[in-house]
Amino acid sequence: MKWAAGILLMAASITQGHAAPADLAAYQALAQQDLRLATIGYRLAKANAPFCDRKMQNPGWVLHDEAQYPDKGLAKTAFVFRAPVAISSVVAGGEAERLGLGAGDGIVAVNGINVTAPDLVKMERATARVERIQTALNDAFAKSGAVIVSVVTAAGAADVKLQPTAVCKSQFWVDTKSKLDAGADGLSVRVTEGLMTLTAKDDAELAAVVAHEMSHNLLTHRDRLAATGRGNKQVLTTEMEADRLSVWLMKNAGYDPAAALRLIERYGSKTGLGIFSDGTHLRWRSRQKLMQAEILSMAQTDERNGLHSPPLLRHSN
Ligand SMILES: [Zn+2]
Repeated sequence: MKWAAGILLMAASITQGHAAPADLAAYQALAQQDLRLATIGYRLAKANAPFCDRKMQNPGWVLHDEAQYPDKGLAKTAFVFRAPVAISSVVAGGEAERLGLGAGDGIVAVNGINVTAPDLVKMERATARVERIQTALNDAFAKSGAVIVSVVTAAGAADVKLQPTAVCKSQFWVDTKSKLDAGADGLSVRVTEGLMTLTAKDDAELAAVVAHEMSHNLLTHRDRLAATGRGNKQVLTTEMEADRLSVWLMKNAGYDPAAALRLIERYGSKTGLGIFSDGTHLRWRSRQKLMQAEILSMAQTDERNGLHSPPLLRHSN
């Protein structure tokens, strides 16, 4: 997979090997896209946590490494880096925000172990340090539910304790391709810049894309297809399930599920196909009908604590 993007709610989407953004504004625009996707993904993962068997703790930040940028000098003009790996942005309502961390604050160590040694960058990919931080965090959260992170803020160096609430297990990446595309790999949700631009005016439409891909992951479709084989019928079944579950995830997170219908129509009338033009999706009008029916059936179920319990998640593993 040629994913150019960062990690989880974590790394920014610029890496070496990609066309260098022409100027400072382009750098900042990419950081904005990372935040937009991270925010929508986080909101969906948090709101639906009561229905997810697999969960993970997420600090609610996007990290980036100055080494990710083809022009490091320009990156340092576009952003504040209080350490070589720094927070690019924080997600509203997340743990990082709660702790008062913000853009520019540097990340130095996780549980006392330095995770930003320069040799990592030379040896591996430009995102190596950010990935290492993520792995260290996930390991620490899995062990004790909390982690001490050494940071550098405007006030100086400090150790902060992160103890985020668990949300549905999911990561989100911006793929810097212009093609209209999105994907799910079992854990991560990938959305291209092209699709982000198509949905630029309406976060609920981007939420529809993310909710569809998250649904594939929450329903462990990848594993199921590995077991059954990727016949057209099997793939179509997973696509229909993802469409159906997506509107529940959206509604629970406070997005208008009808945005999924609008997006499908706008996209589908252009291409005649679904979000994925691989011939295994229903044509857009059929997808629209399927989701419309699901929205109706959701409206007839009772809410509990403001949430609708998605039938598709009640019996999944
Ligand atoms: Zn799909």
